[in-house]
Amino acid sequence: MTARIVIVGGGSGGTITANRLAEELEPQIEAGEVEITIVSDNPNHIYKPLYLYVPFGEATLEDASRPLVDLVDHRVNLVFEHVTDIDTDSKSIATAAGSELEYDYLVMATGAIPQPEETPGLGDDEPGHHFYGPEAAEDLRTALANFDEGHLVLSVIGTPHVCPAAPVEFPMIVDQWFRERGVREDIDITYTYPIQRLHGVRPTAEWMVPRFEERDIDSKTFFNVDSVEDGTIETLEGKELDFDLMVGVPEFTASSLVQDAGLGEEWMEVDRHTLESDHAEDVYGIGDVTNLPTSKAGSVAHYASGTLVSRIASEVRGQVPTATFDGKTICFIEAGTEEGTFIEFAYDREPVVRDENRFLHWSKLGYNEAYWLTARGVM
Ligand SMILES: Cc1cc2nc3c(=O)[nH]c(=O)nc-3n(C[C@H](O)[C@H](O)[C@H](O)COP(=O)(O)OP(=O)(O)OC[C@H]3O[C@@H](n4cnc5c(N)ncnc54)[C@H](O)[C@@H]3O)c2cc1C
Repeated sequence: MTARIVIVGGGSGGTITANRLAEELEPQIEAGEVEITIVSDNPNHIYKPLYLYVPFGEATLEDASRPLVDLVDHRVNLVFEHVTDIDTDSKSIATAAGSELEYDYLVMATGAIPQPEETPGLGDDEPGHHFYGPEAAEDLRTALANFDEGHLVLSVIGTPHVCPAAPVEFPMIVDQWFRERGVREDIDITYTYPIQRLHGVRPTAEWMVPRFEERDIDSKTFFNVDSVEDGTIETLEGKELDFDLMVGVPEFTASSLVQDAGLGEEWMEVDRHTLESDHAEDVYGIGDVTNLPTSKAGSVAHYASGTLVSRIASEVRGQVPTATFDGKTICFIEAGTEEGTFIEFAYDREPVVRDENRFLHWSKLGYNEAYWLTARGVM
């Protein structure tokens, strides 16, 4: 009997899991006892953190994209189709192209999907910009290049937002960027956040306060964006804020596959230590699609993949799985002035934010280059 492992999604979580499984189960694959397949609706792997740099002309969309065939172990089958149905009773998935695949172990790695259209006025051909998709990041690049006076507002709209760092980084990078262009004194910058402090992670919020003051970045909390009209943001609290350039961090949802397959009401519901579905046998979740009580960050998918691979490999070998995930999360945060900081935490370890320095900025840039080795499962 061949054990069929199917991974839905060829992003950060799916790719590293497939590569590590291929390595771990090499003898079983060679013996025809195991088959690993990634089903992804994008033939390219997207390294989304580079979208933060696109608006500043510091990365291109091409830099952020590599063909999956170049990144994935040759022992892994690749199917480039959009999955439309999951049946956890018959243990099968169906695709829009009409294929049906049966699985013995299913890994959901479909990520979090930005929903700018949920906020009136945000998105393509709308007054509000964002950088959570390729076209949007390019449009913002053009808008920023043409912006040399007025009021720029960065509003975090939905929580949880993918990548806890990006909304913190954007105002600090844009501040520095305007200073280098000699236009900062003609531009006001305001950052808004939906709860009563600057960030969901309290130590990050505390770290931000003096940095924003130093750089003359204004902030508004308990600010829940309702709509973005031409030149004005309206909030659920009945406030208004005028802008000349608005950048929003949109709401995110899991793929509707999750709810349709009964795998969760909102996000895919998994055991936070074993990554097993709360609702179906032999189904696992990794990355942004899950309800893990930590950040939606690539580092979480990276660390969780070690646990996932070990558990599935044990199952395949007929052993009791013992590996557990401790919620390890790390994030490099750009501080703008060619400096960066670093935050680390886990389920039972409080977040600690380091003081910013140049080394951490260069570490983040270095990691962006090394990422492609990580995705291959080398690091
Ligand atoms: C601007 C930005 C900056 C970021 N910065 C950082 C950072 O500094 N540090 C950090 O750790 N993280 C960062 N992140 C977050 C990081 O990119 C994500 O946490 C990570 O990509 C999650 O991996 P994933 O595998 O869960 O999802 P993804 O990488 O989003 O992959 C999802 C995959 O599923 C596929 N898919 C979805 N639905 C289907 C379907 N129905 N059928 C078939 N395939 C499907 C998609 O095509 C894609 O291949 C950032 C994200 C953004 C957007």
